[in-house]
Amino acid sequence: MPDVTRILSGGTIFTGGSEPVVIKGGAVAFDGDRIVAVGPVSEVVSGQRGAEVIDASGKLVMPGFINGHTHLYSALARGLMADIAPSANFVEILEHLWWKLDRALTHEHTWYSAATGALDLVRSGTTTIIDHHASQVSVTDSLANVAEALEEIGIRANLCFEISDRNGETKREEGLAESEAFIQELAASAESLGSTSGGAENRGAESRGAESRGAENGGGAEDDGGGDGVGLLTASVGLHASFTVDDDTLDRAGGIARDAGVGCHIHVAEDRADVEDSLRRSGKRVVERLHEHGILGEKTIAAHCIHISEHERDILADTETIVVHNPQSNMNNAVGCTDVPGMLEAGVLVGLGTDGFTGSMFDEMKVANLIHRHQAGDPRVGHDVAERLCLRNNAVIGSRLVNGTVGELSAGSLADIIVLDYDPPTPLEAENFTGHVIFGLTGWMVETVIIGGRDIMRDREFTTVDAPGTAARARELARDLWSRM
Ligand SMILES: [Zn+2]
Repeated sequence: MPDVTRILSGGTIFTGGSEPVVIKGGAVAFDGDRIVAVGPVSEVVSGQRGAEVIDASGKLVMPGFINGHTHLYSALARGLMADIAPSANFVEILEHLWWKLDRALTHEHTWYSAATGALDLVRSGTTTIIDHHASQVSVTDSLANVAEALEEIGIRANLCFEISDRNGETKREEGLAESEAFIQELAASAESLGSTSGGAENRGAESRGAESRGAENGGGAEDDGGGDGVGLLTASVGLHASFTVDDDTLDRAGGIARDAGVGCHIHVAEDRADVEDSLRRSGKRVVERLHEHGILGEKTIAAHCIHISEHERDILADTETIVVHNPQSNMNNAVGCTDVPGMLEAGVLVGLGTDGFTGSMFDEMKVANLIHRHQAGDPRVGHDVAERLCLRNNAVIGSRLVNGTVGELSAGSLADIIVLDYDPPTPLEAENFTGHVIFGLTGWMVETVIIGGRDIMRDREFTTVDAPGTAARARELARDLWSRM
């Protein structure tokens, strides 16, 4: 990345964080991968002599989004043309579609799926991805493969592999081993970088698994290196869901996570079938079962949590477990609606994710605003839910899981910044910012994306990878993948 301090100057700055502020005629200065100053232009510029000033007047500058739960491996399913039997319920959707797809993925499919999914997220302003990966036949080295695609783009991410017993003992063992190996690899490269934790940048030749993906991808124009800050990547231990993992698998996965000081990432009570299975297996509900096996905690993500009791809600609050709400996916699968207002009231940290359904956190936030008032039959519900989940809580969640503070523009935070072409037709202030996000802003307004101080997309052009070339190869691979399902 450039070795001089740079200043985005003259735009409207939304700082995000726990006490967001709007600064008109503001500036953000960053040096290396960190923000060094945020404030009015005159103050910031006079404090940073010799800095390169980038004109952002007329633009909106805000922190990049954090996607709290997604599956990059599903990106090549868009427009899927394959012989998929109709599904009458959630378990059938998994059996007929997603478990067929995750068994058909080769390493090359996985690489391009990760790359195209991540490019979509960057395009609409996401700078941190919390991903849950499944390629249930091509397990070994799959996380290094995803990591390589994301590092080539230059996006920040927390990665995990979806351990499950649903494909037999061998695959379960491979999933456990893959999780452990990837965590160790990140730790080793962080040590060699002297970074705080978990960094995986510049793993270079050690990268495994992508040897067959061909030479067309990448083509990194203007790759200015990166890597002088903390690592972009961290890891969690992934588990599919309670209903596909036995007690021993839970114990071993939880043990790997504890030993490494990371959390787990698991689907929880997404459908009633998960609850029924847990009661059958253990006499306990899903959250109770996971708690008994040591899976919960402040770095663990419990995605969905739709069918939970008040007691389970209290366990999530007491253990400071992260819940991630994915309203569009839940509506698409017709599995119900998480009681987010109730969980927030009970002190649960709830964030927002896309579950692979969309590439835009703006879209997810709009739906998060609508679904709860629709569900409650009360138009007073929702507005603050969307804002708290997407803008405030995701910043807290992201900062727990990556190497630094994300989701806010403040001195010392990671320089993950997006610049939007937005000329508001009504006053824009801190107190009505959510109204502008929900009713005005879209992902298409994002012009420039900076991650760790490095320009990843500038004026809607990617600087690190050949995006059209990546999409072209992905289209070929998608047909191949569909034919294997
Ligand atoms: Zn999911």
